[in-house]
Amino acid sequence: MGKPLVVVFSGAGMSTDSGIPDYRGPQGLWRREPDAEKLVTYAYYMADPEIRRRSWLMRAEIAALEPRPNAAHLAVAALERGGTPVRVVTQNVDGLHQLAGMPDRKVFELHGTARAVVCTRCHVRSPMAETLGRVAAGEPDPACLTCGGILKAGTVMFGERLDPEVLAQAMTVAKGCQVFIAVGSTLQVQPAASLAGIAAEHGARLIIVNAEETPYDPLADELIREPIGSALPELLDRLQDVGV
Ligand code: ZN
Repeated sequence: MGKPLVVVFSGAGMSTDSGIPDYRGPQGLWRREPDAEKLVTYAYYMADPEIRRRSWLMRAEIAALEPRPNAAHLAVAALERGGTPVRVVTQNVDGLHQLAGMPDRKVFELHGTARAVVCTRCHVRSPMAETLGRVAAGEPDPACLTCGGILKAGTVMFGERLDPEVLAQAMTVAKGCQVFIAVGSTLQVQPAASLAGIAAEHGARLIIVNAEETPYDPLADELIREPIGSALPELLDRLQDVGV
């Protein structure tokens, strides 16, 4: 018998132990400073150089925190390294699953990535660090070096649609997995959140690890409210030892 396919679906709560602020959370930036939402809203971003200047400063601030993978990211990567088929579907843009050792091709980033910058005109991609270097050197709103177009983070902003290919891949693994673990997500942002329901419908064991209630709790086989940094490593150990 082959080992079961495990999908780890991660939201902002996965990365708060790594010091990445949860912008949407109760103490999040979006609540404290509603205007801040404009920094990641496509129409405002494209229309206003001042929004872009502030947006790059926000990226620089997060990068300066030098976030590292935490115990939960490391546990997911260790499970994969141990021979269990694992796929990560994430709402996070921080790349911490890959930094922890998950192979890039096994991580589906629904909301894109903040590790890359993309040109809105010619679509060329470049590393975030390169653009932040230009910002630090005095360019408040660096233009594309290839075509002069407006650059933006490789994240999916409000007002942009998810990459249909990434979403399709996420759907496929949600339908085909035997265990679906939703971690640190309120499961309220669609269509991402619906993956939990799709997995359960297709017979996966649904485990939800989140401090607060989610709309999918009634479907869950197991609910874990303990802190993610300790609860997820314990859960994955247990899965590895006893199987499903
Ligand atoms: Zn360009």
